[in-house]
Amino acid sequence: MGMFTGKTAVITGAARGIGRAIAEKLASEGADLALCDLQTDWLTDTAEAVKALGVKVECFDADVSKGEDADKVIAGVLDTYGKIDIMVNNAGITKDGLMMRMSESDWDAVMSVNLKGTFLFSKAAAKPMMKQRNGVIVNIASIIGLIGNAGQCNYAASKAGVIALTKSTAKELAARNIRVNAVAPGFIQSKMTDALSDDVKSMLLDRIPAKRFGVPEDVANAVAFLAGDNSSYMTGQVLTVSGGMVM
Ligand code: NAD
Repeated sequence: MGMFTGKTAVITGAARGIGRAIAEKLASEGADLALCDLQTDWLTDTAEAVKALGVKVECFDADVSKGEDADKVIAGVLDTYGKIDIMVNNAGITKDGLMMRMSESDWDAVMSVNLKGTFLFSKAAAKPMMKQRNGVIVNIASIIGLIGNAGQCNYAASKAGVIALTKSTAKELAARNIRVNAVAPGFIQSKMTDALSDDVKSMLLDRIPAKRFGVPEDVANAVAFLAGDNSSYMTGQVLTVSGGMVM
């Protein structure tokens, strides 16, 4: 029996990268899954991979920045599984640029997906969790939300917002036995970091005491810890997974 056998988890942005690794980790511990993404082809691939682990999987074509999509997904999950134990807000985007050149639309897009999306899915999932008097929410922030980064003022502000949202909702929901925590990854091997030049990669590695980029599984392991009973006295916390880059 796995750590999450009999539990239901919703994961946004599950089609690839860190979201897919989270889906595989929670499924490997027995969780039945509801996976959401805009990229339905890749989402089907993720679903096939986790089904092979012997759990139930439902896929939802959903845009996290739309309140009606959040309500549709949560209603669908309740129809299928009857409850929601774990909500992982992972979907995120970047639209980088220096502030002086950043368009209003690039600011709004990043805020809508990263921060508003996390709010909308937290709110929709918290409703049944409050009735159950039980639940866990894990939000994927970023070290950039803690330390800032030139060229990412929209992303940094959105992830700092996710951290503040995590702490505020943790305070609101603790009395209902709902825990809310965040993971703040550092540089994780992904489509995003693959695109960096060798010079930029070696400059970044110089700043990482562990001398390697993380892999999506490093983040998934931290999510599993925060989603499980081993962290039952933790709420409102930010767990940094950065090879020591941020301490
Ligand atoms: P990724 O681009 O590989 O995956 C993100 C997924 O989110 C994609 O499948 C994408 O289709 C989906 N998505 C984007 N917009 C969406 C929307 N509006 N509605 C639904 N789904 C949407 O990125 P990743 O590297 O796996 O990042 C996952 C999370 O981890 C993000 O929140 C990101 O900010 C965070 N993060 C990543 C790193 C890193 O180094 N890769 C570091 C820190 C934090």
